[in-house]
Amino acid sequence: MPDKTKVYEAADLLGSDFDSSGIEDAVRQILNAVGEDPEREGLKNTPARVGRAYGELLAGYRTDPLDLINNALFDVEYDDMVLVRDIEFFSLCEHHMLPFIGRAHVAYIPRGKVIGLSKIPRIVDLFSRRLQVQERLTRQVADFLSNALNPIGVGVVIEALHMCSMMRGVKKHDARMTTSTMLGSFRTNPATRQEFLDSISRGATPLRF
Ligand SMILES: [Zn+2]
Repeated sequence: MPDKTKVYEAADLLGSDFDSSGIEDAVRQILNAVGEDPEREGLKNTPARVGRAYGELLAGYRTDPLDLINNALFDVEYDDMVLVRDIEFFSLCEHHMLPFIGRAHVAYIPRGKVIGLSKIPRIVDLFSRRLQVQERLTRQVADFLSNALNPIGVGVVIEALHMCSMMRGVKKHDARMTTSTMLGSFRTNPATRQEFLDSISRGATPLRF
């Protein structure tokens, strides 16, 4: 088992209670502030719906990382690269609270320990369901795996489209962003890093929404 404290630290949980009625009040205020009538038919239930939606979209603050990885760590003699590519994710940018959407590619080289493959998308989920910036999201996924598995190396590349750029018509070509975090051998060994980057670019399709 990985060091519990370290895993929690890496998950960077705020442990805050979720105040759905606080969100409902705030949404009612926003509706008033934009000149809408919160009591009209179509909007009557909107504050409650938004409250529930945020509960889901921001569940990453309240997901227990140990529940997530428990029973899914295995001792294995395997020291080649494990790669999960094209993991879809949805997040909210912390600057505008608008979605950014894309895919993550996660790879590591085990040091005697692997994690169930289905858990890697759930780790991406844990960190994307928060108010985020893409750089931190990338870093947190890499750090978390690094702490949970103590692998020889970890690489995470995230490509995303940011609605705050696309919808507000700033510069549309700036809406797409790629970030990466390379740890351990992915940082120190150019051949490892290249193998990772080559395998995620093979057959890659452009992000589109
Ligand atoms: Zn933004």
